[in-house]
Amino acid sequence: MIQILDQFSNPDLSRKLLDKVKNLAETFIEKHGRKPVIMEVCGSHTMALARSGIKQALRDYVKLVSGPGCPVCVTDQKSIDAMIQLAQGDGRIICTFGDMIRVPGSNGSLLDAKSEGKDIRVVYSPSDSVRIAEKNPDKEVIFLGIGFETTIPSLGIALKEANEKGLEKYSMWVTTKLVEPILRVLLEAQEVKLDGFLLPGHVSIVLGKHSYHYLVDEYGVPGTICGFEPVGVLGGIYKLIAMLLDERVEIENYHTHVVTHSGNSFAQEIMKTYFKECDEWWRGLGVIPNSGLDIRKEFAHLDAKKKFNVHVGEPRKTKCRCGDILRGLAVPEDCVLYGKACTPSKPIGPCMVSSEGTCAAHYQYMRGDII
Ligand code: SF4
Ligand code: SF4
Repeated sequence: MIQILDQFSNPDLSRKLLDKVKNLAETFIEKHGRKPVIMEVCGSHTMALARSGIKQALRDYVKLVSGPGCPVCVTDQKSIDAMIQLAQGDGRIICTFGDMIRVPGSNGSLLDAKSEGKDIRVVYSPSDSVRIAEKNPDKEVIFLGIGFETTIPSLGIALKEANEKGLEKYSMWVTTKLVEPILRVLLEAQEVKLDGFLLPGHVSIVLGKHSYHYLVDEYGVPGTICGFEPVGVLGGIYKLIAMLLDERVEIENYHTHVVTHSGNSFAQEIMKTYFKECDEWWRGLGVIPNSGLDIRKEFAHLDAKKKFNVHVGEPRKTKCRCGDILRGLAVPEDCVLYGKACTPSKPIGPCMVSSEGTCAAHYQYMRGDII
C-alpha cells in the first residue's frame, strides 16, 4: 500500500503525466477551438494545483476554475457575525477549527474576541471540545461547527459523545454544507460553462462514487474523483479530457484505494441520526434550499441555536469578491483588495484566510502569474 501511495507523488510519473495531459488538451483545443474548462470543487485540490505548479504549467492548455469546496470560504458573513456575537457572552468557552478564528465578520474576528479576553480555543476534532466540556462543567462550552460531508460525521460523533455523557452545558452551533445542492445551483445558473468536475476526494470517501449520478443523468456533465497528490490530480484531469474527447459522460474514480461505490455507511448513518436537511446561507449565493444539515430536534438540548438568543443584522458590505470567486466568476487578481489591503497576514475575506482558499493559494504560489 505504501508503495502504491508513493507513486502518487513520484515526480517522474508526474512529469510524464503532465505531458500526456498537455497533448490531450491540445487535441481538445484543435477540435473545439477553446481550452477545456474544468472546475475543482474541493479547496484542497485548489491548494494542491497551485502548490504543485500544475495550474501554472497547464495555463495554456486547460482552464482550471476554483469552486465552492472550502467550508471556511463558503460560510456566509451572517454566520460569522453570529458566531462572534455568541463568543461575547460571559462564562463561555468557544471551540472551533483553526481557520475559523481568523475570518473577519462585520465587527472583527473570533481572534479579536480572543485578544479581548474571551476564551476561544482551536481544536483539531469536534470530540476535543467534548473533552473540554467534561473538564469545565461550570462553563458553557460551544463548538462552532462548519463543514461539508467530510466533517459532518465527526460533528455527529461529538454530539453522540456529549449526549451519552449527559453534558448539560455543551452545545454546538452548526452551519454545514452539502455538495450536491451547490453543484446543482452552479450547473443550473450556467454562469460559467463547465465541461467537467474534479470531484472532492474526502467528501467522496463518505458519499461514494454513486452519489454523483445526477451530474451524468440530469446535467450530462462528467467528473473524476481524485486525490491530492500531483499524480492523482493530473490523472483526474487526464481522464476528464479523455472522456470529453470520447464524448463519454461518466463519473470515473481515480481514488479507488479509498473511495468506494457506496461510500462509508457508518459515516452516512451518523449523519442521518444526528442531522436533518435545512436551508443554508452560502457566501455570495444567499440561501440555498436544503443545502445543509442542522441538528435534529431530538438533540435540541445540544443545539446552540436553540439554547442562545443570537440575532445579527445585515452584514457590513466590503469590496471582497469571495462570493464571485466561489462561483468561478472571478479570480483573486480581479479583486481590488488582493495583495494590497488583503494578504494572508491581514485577510479581508475567507478565501485569503483559509488554508484551502483560492486567494491564499494564488498569493502563496502564483503571485505575478495571473491565470
Ligand atoms: S474537507 Fe476535504 S473534500 Fe472538503 S474541501 Fe476540504 S479537502 Fe476538499
Ligand atoms: S483578495 Fe481578499 S478581499 Fe479579495 S476576494 Fe480574496 S479574500 Fe476577498
